[in-house]
Amino acid sequence: MVRPFIWSVIRNGAQTNAWSDNWCHLSPLRDFITPRHIANAGFNLQSSVADILDANGQWRWPQAWYDTYPVLIGLTIIRDNSQLHDRLVWKDLEGNERQFSSMEVWHAIRLRSNTVSWANMVWFSQCIPRHSFQLWLVIKNKLKTQDRLKVWEAGSETNLRLMCCPLCQRDRDSRDHLFFACNFSSQVWMNVKSLVDMKQVNALWSSVLAWMEQYSSSTNLEHIVSKLVLAASAYFIWQERNNRLFSRMQCSATQVSEKIKSSVRFRLMGFKFKGHSDLNHVLRKWKIPSRASDEDPG
Ligand SMILES: [Zn+2]
Repeated sequence: MVRPFIWSVIRNGAQTNAWSDNWCHLSPLRDFITPRHIANAGFNLQSSVADILDANGQWRWPQAWYDTYPVLIGLTIIRDNSQLHDRLVWKDLEGNERQFSSMEVWHAIRLRSNTVSWANMVWFSQCIPRHSFQLWLVIKNKLKTQDRLKVWEAGSETNLRLMCCPLCQRDRDSRDHLFFACNFSSQVWMNVKSLVDMKQVNALWSSVLAWMEQYSSSTNLEHIVSKLVLAASAYFIWQERNNRLFSRMQCSATQVSEKIKSSVRFRLMGFKFKGHSDLNHVLRKWKIPSRASDEDPG
């Protein structure tokens, strides 16, 4: 995987394999020069770049190779006649030499896809990372909700019958049920979304998703706060669901709403607000005292 990114910078040419290492724009040469031709020319598979150059810096391969492999015509290399060893370098996907680091390697070999429309919905500079991670799982529908567990518990009909949403006691839970079709969740959602500009978003996941696709990259303060509210809602509703399922703790919809509001409010208090025209409106709504540092000098 990493071989195409590792290149030799030729100095004395002795440490670089002529056929298999990357050292010229045609490398690796063994991709097109056969082992038989290499042997017939008096070289072997271990020959270095120094071995295939004569004292004048001319290629020692036979003239006939230029007929067989016309790409070799015009291939030149400037060998540094010093005794310095060849140097290994890392080149990126565009062929530029880069300082070697694990980050460079990861960027070079990782699987790449197009950026999803909701990327900035989940990851943005003001986000609360553990809420973002939770929202990411929700969007990918990777939470272990009961509808997904069904697949693993196929043999146990009793367990399946006992399964019901711990928040409303009806039906099995699923991503779309918890966010926010469930009676309990929809109460929470109605409650918290009244604090942000999300009136048009109803309790259906498709409606939430449509909002995310429209506003995920917005830098409008109101939209940034909305993103925090949505991620916090996903986080605390899932937490409440698990508390009810795995311990005896139980909160009301109002209490869960308060947890969401106070975590968002706490995050807002750490914000640098400068330059947002809707600042005062947001501060008032979230009952945050305005600070001298946020005042626009203009
Ligand atoms: Zn429910």
